[in-house]
Amino acid sequence: MKAIIVGAGLAGCAAAWALEQHGYECILVESSEKAGGRMRCTTLGKHNVDVGFHVLHTAYPTLHRWLDVDHLHLKPMDAATDLIAPSTGVIKTIGDPLRSPSTLFPTIFSAGIWNALRMLRWRLKTRKQDLEAAMDAPSIPLDTYFDAMRFSKPFQSSFLQPLFAGITLDNQRKERSAFASFTFSAMSHGMMTMPEKGIEAVPRQILERLDATEIMYNTKVTSVTKNSVQLDDGTSIKANMVVLATPQHVTQAMLGKSTRLRRKETATYVFECKDSPIKRARLLLNTEYGIGQHKILHVHVPTLLHASESHLVVATVIGEDARLHEDDEERKHIQSELVDWFGSTVNDWDLIGTTYVDYALPSGGTTAIGREREQLIHDGIYCIGDHTMHPSVHGTLRSVERLLEHLEIPIPMKD
Ligand SMILES: Cc1cc2nc3c(=O)[nH]c(=O)nc-3n(C[C@H](O)[C@H](O)[C@H](O)COP(=O)(O)OP(=O)(O)OC[C@H]3O[C@@H](n4cnc5c(N)ncnc54)[C@H](O)[C@@H]3O)c2cc1C
Repeated sequence: MKAIIVGAGLAGCAAAWALEQHGYECILVESSEKAGGRMRCTTLGKHNVDVGFHVLHTAYPTLHRWLDVDHLHLKPMDAATDLIAPSTGVIKTIGDPLRSPSTLFPTIFSAGIWNALRMLRWRLKTRKQDLEAAMDAPSIPLDTYFDAMRFSKPFQSSFLQPLFAGITLDNQRKERSAFASFTFSAMSHGMMTMPEKGIEAVPRQILERLDATEIMYNTKVTSVTKNSVQLDDGTSIKANMVVLATPQHVTQAMLGKSTRLRRKETATYVFECKDSPIKRARLLLNTEYGIGQHKILHVHVPTLLHASESHLVVATVIGEDARLHEDDEERKHIQSELVDWFGSTVNDWDLIGTTYVDYALPSGGTTAIGREREQLIHDGIYCIGDHTMHPSVHGTLRSVERLLEHLEIPIPMKD
């Protein structure tokens, strides 16, 4: 049996590995020069940098089925988020006191007792054994959900809204509440980590297991049928099955569906400096995000997690603003915003580069019900990837597992 897998992101690499282990003759076709897709890293200055702020939740069950987690050398972030009000410079903390008891009083102080209790109630509703459980029930838009849980409006606007805008990479937060509950479960029952060598280490680990698969880089697929793919050089390849492991907008175009999808864009501005302005490996979230000219959603310092001669301060921007990441005026604006956050020392930092993703996460309806968002097979073509389930590493690997369940192929052994 010959299989062509289009797209060498996490889904495509995992599918190729499982199929080749089961005796398929696989060809993996990738339009860019390397594998990894949206989990890729890039080199800025002397540093290996993730393209976008990306964490790996150890609570994802699929992680442990597919990856040798020890060899990813995961570095945990703190179980707390700091919140900055740039106009006053005040920094507060919201943590998970069940895992980090020292954050109990700071959390009550920052959130207020009622919001803290509502967070606890949400936390207690999460299920360790089944992170996706909330997806089985009808869902509502995120902001409606926050209202329904009776979080105060100031708490929503200063914490929940920027936090979930960051998680869904959508400043309009048009994701369903069930996905927020899934993410909240993952945060509650495991650690938020970063692999020592960057997020790309995850797809690379699976890529490096490929033995017999032929990989064609810099090769764009322009159209597909259930047993052939057409390449941009005009040639075509035939096979017994075609698996589309491309992002949502590409898959929809190839299937001839409407491609009027809302882009979820994100950019990071990566500064190098000698001393880190923050001391803990936490996300520093902007409580004034979206007000006036406050464009930075959050800042983190990945170099706090591993030894480095200098520090990297990474500022994340989402939405249409992200598109301006190469504009000199915009770069100056972002640096001046950081002066408000950390003082004039920021003027000495070097902006070593920016990263940008145009379609960072798939779009979906706020009221979708179920763990699966799209069907597996369209006109005989198999479709996998995060958009077919839900927008996360777990959703991506679950989409591959669904393909394997359909073909009655086991998940391959890791070693
Ligand atoms: C900035 C950012 C932060 C994220 N943060 C998190 C997080 O913290 N936690 C989490 O769980 N998830 C996160 N995600 C989501 C996660 O990265 C994705 O769900 C996952 O990487 C999707 O993998 P995929 O294989 O489905 O798609 P992709 O990684 O997009 O792979 C698709 C591949 O197809 C290739 N391709 C496209 N068109 C063609 C074509 N015509 N021909 C051939 N090849 C083609 C692409 O180059 C790409 O390599 C984040 C994503 C982004 C962008």
